[in-house]
Amino acid sequence: MHKKKVYLDKPSASLRKTVNPDAKEFYMLQIQSLCAGIADKQILNDISFTINPGETHVLMGPNGAGKSTLGNVLMGSPEYAVTGGKIFFDGKDITEEDTDKRAKMGMFLTFQDPLEVPGISLEAFIRSSLQQVTGKHIKMMAFRKELEAAMDLLAMNHNYADRDLNVGFSGGEKKKSEILQLLMLRPKFAILDETDSGLDVDAVRTVSKGVEEFQKQTGGALLIITHSTRILESLHVDKTHIIVSGRIVKEGDGSLVQEINEKGFDPFIPEEIKEAERKAKLALAAKNAMDAVRTNGAVTQAFADRMKKEGGAQ
Ligand code: ADP
Ligand code: MG
Repeated sequence: MHKKKVYLDKPSASLRKTVNPDAKEFYMLQIQSLCAGIADKQILNDISFTINPGETHVLMGPNGAGKSTLGNVLMGSPEYAVTGGKIFFDGKDITEEDTDKRAKMGMFLTFQDPLEVPGISLEAFIRSSLQQVTGKHIKMMAFRKELEAAMDLLAMNHNYADRDLNVGFSGGEKKKSEILQLLMLRPKFAILDETDSGLDVDAVRTVSKGVEEFQKQTGGALLIITHSTRILESLHVDKTHIIVSGRIVKEGDGSLVQEINEKGFDPFIPEEIKEAERKAKLALAAKNAMDAVRTNGAVTQAFADRMKKEGGAQ
């Protein structure tokens, strides 16, 4: 298994200074001490890692760890607020850029739960996205030919091109439609959020083949969020990041994926996170108990009042 890697030339020290004064190296994606969350809840804590052009990284972690949040924040989702740190892409600070600009720069995210869009066909959606991302007019016939070739690769019936985007698609078909977008949009860097979850063995193989083809054709980099090794079988993994409670707790090469599959996440969760989770659970239990006491107290009081009233009325 070999993969052609396309490294950007390292820019001169002076250029490095202008794009990111703190950077020691020039990376395609650089996440620097990133903290983010929603209104009153911090979800991501001090996340830092870097991805070079053409590399494949895997992000794993228990449910609720913050994997999808990281994908969304990297892509500039307005749902989340960045409260600290920075994100650089191609040497530019994109922390405050909107999603559109990031897509134009070559970033792409597949959704864990792809949206259904009635009234827009899959073909029209992809063609319009491609026009927006490239800023060029895309000729209909040539586009259709390429689209059908990509659909063949994903064992998708051509008539799906004319169907409304994801409407009535099965789980597997929605995931294939995301990979079809990946193949057609050819981003420099794609984040795949559990593109393999809920798929049967054959569908995972097909999706994996699509991802492999994307790498072969474009040399694009990947951040694959996954719970299984199956989608990774035909891909070379450069680095694995384990996220727990919004923090990166362990990093390693591709072999870490196998280790997680054998041992689970528990051995990689630091004591202080376990302790914090225990405390949070205890605090929740205590609060529930207090609520119960209060409710019971109120019920008892109401009962006593009623008894008094009824007693008094006799
Ligand atoms: P993962 O993808 O690792 O399973 P998520 O990133 O989806 O985890 O979620 C991380 C945590 O943040 C969870 O506790 C989740 O409930 C919470 N969270 C994520 N997005 C939102 C949101 N839009 N509103 C409220 N809570 C959210
Ligand atoms: Mg998720």
